[in-house]
Amino acid sequence: AAKGAGRNRYSYFTPTLQVAALNRMRLTNDLRGALKAEQFELYFQPIVHLKSGRIHKAEALIRWNHPQRGVVSPLEFIPLAEASGLIVDIGEWVFRESARCVQRWRQQHHPEFQVSVNQSPLEFQREDGAYDAWLRYLQSLNLPGQSVVVEITEGLLLDANATVSNKLLQLRDAGIQVALDDFGTGYSSLSYLKKFDIDYLKIDRSFTRNLAPDSSDMALSDAIIVMAHKLGLRVIAEGVETPEQRDLLAAAGCDYGQGYLFARPMPAEQFDELLRQQAV
Ligand code: C2E
Ligand code: MG
Ligand code: MG
Ligand code: MG
Repeated sequence: AAKGAGRNRYSYFTPTLQVAALNRMRLTNDLRGALKAEQFELYFQPIVHLKSGRIHKAEALIRWNHPQRGVVSPLEFIPLAEASGLIVDIGEWVFRESARCVQRWRQQHHPEFQVSVNQSPLEFQREDGAYDAWLRYLQSLNLPGQSVVVEITEGLLLDANATVSNKLLQLRDAGIQVALDDFGTGYSSLSYLKKFDIDYLKIDRSFTRNLAPDSSDMALSDAIIVMAHKLGLRVIAEGVETPEQRDLLAAAGCDYGQGYLFARPMPAEQFDELLRQQAV
């Protein structure tokens, strides 16, 4: 009977799996033409200095305007881009687009403005491609390495191989800073923090969400902030949605906040407008 049930379940699930696989194949195919067809768009979300309320930085977040499906989330297409190798060209596009924007914002808003770009683990671990090419591109725009921050995730540092260490050294040589994204979600080992040169910790929004005085997430956030500062890192809290969360984080000494309370991610032109309204 167990065998029969197993078979039934199998035949029941197969079509759904096929649909999902087919869907992924179609999306991957569409992804191949998306760069040329200019279907990608970079959105920017402000990162706010909590003490002054000023926008010091922005995170670049990619959007895919699919002609039939509308906006496809990076959570859906980045994994496909990684699996197909398209992530390399997409990542280069994100970097260049971000660099051109940060050039404008450094001129018009603040000379130390920074834009952070996300790099997925596979993207970061590529053997080819070196950050000196990025540095040359920045130099061609008259920008120092410090105008860009690369966001990577903890998992990369846990089983850091030679490629990962080497990439981190290249970044440091170029003056490009590094942020640890989604901090606190995965791992209990923190020893990599003293091993590698990291500039920012981004507290994951799962901590921010449940912040309340005397809550366990408050205790954890407090501890992360104290530890980060002792190690010389700055802290950015993700997913700040309420004034209460902002105030608790500010009181705990958190340096920066990012989230819907301040603004949702928006197209570059709209970000220009936001910066104009908020002159430094
Ligand atoms: P992430 O790097 O952790 O980015 C933060 C995500 O949280 C963004 O989702 C942002 O829109 C969302 N968010 C910001 N504030 C709030 C808030 O207050 N509440 C809530 N609920 N969410 C908030 P998004 O734009 O959908 O991006 C999802 C993920 O896709 C990113 O997570 C990042 O891992 C990846 N991603 C985005 N752009 C790129 C890219 O250019 N390259 C790579 N490799 N990955 C990217
Ligand atoms: Mg990020
Ligand atoms: Mg994040
Ligand atoms: Mg996150």
